[in-house]
Amino acid sequence: MCGIYDKISSMDKIIIANWKMNPASLKEAEKIAKESDVEDLIICPPFLFLEAVSKTIHKAKLGAQDLFWEDKGAYTGEVSPVELKNLGVKYAIIGHSERRQNLGETDKIVAKKIAAAVDNDLTPILCVGETKDERAAGKTEEIIKRELKIGLSLLANQPHTLNPIIAYEPIWAIGTGTPDTPENMLNMVKFIKETLVTSGYTLNPKIIYGGSVNSQNAEEFLKHEEINGALVGGASLKSEEIIKIVKIAKQY
Ligand code: PEP
Repeated sequence: MCGIYDKISSMDKIIIANWKMNPASLKEAEKIAKESDVEDLIICPPFLFLEAVSKTIHKAKLGAQDLFWEDKGAYTGEVSPVELKNLGVKYAIIGHSERRQNLGETDKIVAKKIAAAVDNDLTPILCVGETKDERAAGKTEEIIKRELKIGLSLLANQPHTLNPIIAYEPIWAIGTGTPDTPENMLNMVKFIKETLVTSGYTLNPKIIYGGSVNSQNAEEFLKHEEINGALVGGASLKSEEIIKIVKIAKQY
């Protein structure tokens, strides 16, 4: 069983590379993995490339972009936490907004996946975030509270030694080139911590930011002690970009 925060490295900040449904070929995946193989980075390639990436990297850690909540059985097309664990995967992104929006993933499904990850010693990276309309309607806190409360509900009464990572990813900032402000993220960190306490959850997660992070804006977020890292999508496919971001994180 992994210890608190699953000791990824000597540094406190966590940088997660979410390759999403990229790249198109195994050869390219191996190239990006080889060039991005630095300590303090968690690489989350598509399932298809997990094994090859696991053989290519020596310093970075391996993460999955999703998992199914059952360990085995008749679930066509799904990938189980046991299969991931046996491949050397240590982390799993769960509840990414692209899955919530495109595949109808609900908070209850997210909760089952979070519990399945923890049961299999995988550190879950729970993604929460509001849409542009929800923000405009003043519903940000309501949405985040709901996603946290339900998403973590199956862990709440279980003894656990493995803390989730919580990624606050405002949906309007993902892939748009317009990140949220560090000030808003700092308020969100405070809100997330308060919500866990008022919900009676004795979890102590790292809280990271995601949404159009690149090597130009990463420092604005990572320099704050309260922001424990970043989840990086588009920029993580460029090895020189992700390496720069990891270097920035190491300074703090
Ligand atoms: C993401 O995939 O979660 C993400 C934050 O993407 P991007 O960095 O491209 O906005």
